[in-house]
Amino acid sequence: MRLEGRQQCRPSSFEMNNIAAALQTFRRQLPASVTLIAVSKGQGIEAIQAALDAGQRHFGENRVQEALQKWPLLKARYPDSTLHLIGPLQTNKVKDALGLFDVIHTIDRPKLVEALAREKSGVKFLVQVNQGGEPQKSGIAPAGLPALLALCKKSNLPVSGLMTIPPQTGDAKIYFQKLAALAKRHNLPGLSMGMSGDWQEAVAAGATYIRVGGAIFGARLKP
Ligand SMILES: *Cc1c(COP(=O)(O)O)cnc(C)c1O
Repeated sequence: MRLEGRQQCRPSSFEMNNIAAALQTFRRQLPASVTLIAVSKGQGIEAIQAALDAGQRHFGENRVQEALQKWPLLKARYPDSTLHLIGPLQTNKVKDALGLFDVIHTIDRPKLVEALAREKSGVKFLVQVNQGGEPQKSGIAPAGLPALLALCKKSNLPVSGLMTIPPQTGDAKIYFQKLAALAKRHNLPGLSMGMSGDWQEAVAAGATYIRVGGAIFGARLKP
């Protein structure tokens, strides 16, 4: 990630206090069944460090390349931190991703399942579902989910849940409830859903992971 402009600056102590305060507010509100993933894409090391100092240990990144530049050092310092990949994974980045991430939320196609299954790892996986049929979003269509899960099983790829980004139009709550129903049908305990704007609805629908960026870190600095 190129560090430019504001990104090179240390966040002011005001911003650091805000990160700690936001995390504390989330911790107070979330039931124990929900893991808060602090989405640190587009954030510099100092902001992430402020979240680590405040006790946050689950983080999400959406680009393997950016994560490779920020996280090896942070993971060495905080071996108890857990890193989640929440963006699309190219098959040529599979080895890098398995070496860095602890949980990959974005299994979405047979080719990726096959590439991941060729490597040994202790990584946990979730399948991303594209509920709105939006071509610009990755994820498997609900109709293709049974076959993809069957392939994961056959390939010994341990899938523990489903992830979704609901379409921007429409009621997110409905999509969260539908994802919860799909997960239940397939006996999957994990549900990765809900972001800064809709995490309450996701928690109400049974989310086990919420992925929150802006509401913790404030504005993102474009990588
Ligand atoms: C960026 C991102 C988030 C966090 O979004 P905010 O609106 O900043 O909370 C969550 N999930 C995914 C997949 C993302 O790419």
